Amino acid sequence: MKKHNFAAGPSILPRPVIESAAKAVLDFEGIGLSVLEISHRTKEFEAVIEEASSLMKELLNIPEGYQVLWLAGGASTQFYFVPFNFLEKKAGYVNTGVWAKKAMKEAVNFGETIEVASSEDKNNTYIPKGYKIPEDLDYLHITSNNTIFGTEYHEDIDCPVPLIADMSSDILSRPVDVSKYVMIYGGAQKNIGPAGVTFVIVKEDALGKVTRKIPSMIDYRTHIKNGSMFNTPPVFPIYVVRENLKWVKEQGGVAEIQRRNQAKAKVLYDEIERNSMFMSPVAVEDRSLMNVPFVYSEKYKDMETSEFIDFSKKYGMVGLKGHRLVGGFRASIYNSLPIESVQALVECMQEFEKQYAK
Ligand SMILES: *Cc1c(COP(=O)(O)O)cnc(C)c1O
Repeated sequence: MKKHNFAAGPSILPRPVIESAAKAVLDFEGIGLSVLEISHRTKEFEAVIEEASSLMKELLNIPEGYQVLWLAGGASTQFYFVPFNFLEKKAGYVNTGVWAKKAMKEAVNFGETIEVASSEDKNNTYIPKGYKIPEDLDYLHITSNNTIFGTEYHEDIDCPVPLIADMSSDILSRPVDVSKYVMIYGGAQKNIGPAGVTFVIVKEDALGKVTRKIPSMIDYRTHIKNGSMFNTPPVFPIYVVRENLKWVKEQGGVAEIQRRNQAKAKVLYDEIERNSMFMSPVAVEDRSLMNVPFVYSEKYKDMETSEFIDFSKKYGMVGLKGHRLVGGFRASIYNSLPIESVQALVECMQEFEKQYAK
């Protein structure tokens, strides 16, 4: 049976990308060695990492003065890289849920850290708006898409202080005005590649403003100077990212991906609204185009989550179980998920309603 992969991360990659990864494991671009056994110092791999960075720059229209880095450690490691490199006196965080809080928790160790706004009062079902951003912050940190709670900033905010965003789960899903940020980062495993590599887009002249000593590995300037090769970078994940970025470009770039994402999300949210058995816990205007949580509607709230999960498995659905903090279900509909999978999920929800609605 065809599987429909709605996993939150690591998550779906385009089939042609997986095929070229499989090929490269056996023979990397015809050189008679596997991508798993080549030196990162070969000219072949240098071409891969350079192309990955230049495709990022091209796809996101990254202005001059920014660098693209490929690091290890996941987005969670960036939670302390960021304050290490940017926090001198005071940092602000917008608390939109689990990941934002984890990022804030690390900053506390480096300087005064304030919560500028929060959506915790309503279980993070919305994006805070209309708050005042203090002008004495070294930076403001936001999480552009909240993978767990399914809320998303649909626009780049105006910010009077340097803006830093965790875009782990919505990078490349829409055009971004990179010039509004001093830094954007994320784990690759949701929207641009497999687990094991972290992307960082950083404005070079925003660095070097803190007085503390920064260990080499944690200093972005080290990685800029060495082209992400200060130490051994995650060679294979970077190869797969490069293949995926080529795929995005072939599809028509980020604007086309955004159009598809909007179409997919509309099909799914429309069904959640229509279906008497389900509802969305998230404020309409802040609903994520990437992660769509839904729960049983009031009338069916005592049904077991496993009923729909087990039912959906018969339709080839994978990864629909919701995060424990939200309950119910979550469909992650990242860039490479085809609309056919969303349509199959909608049919499955309709059939479930036919069989179980009272
Ligand atoms: C998954 C996720 C993270 C954590 O990423 P790791 O690469 O596992 O450290 C951080 N932020 C957001 C928004 C995420 O979705």
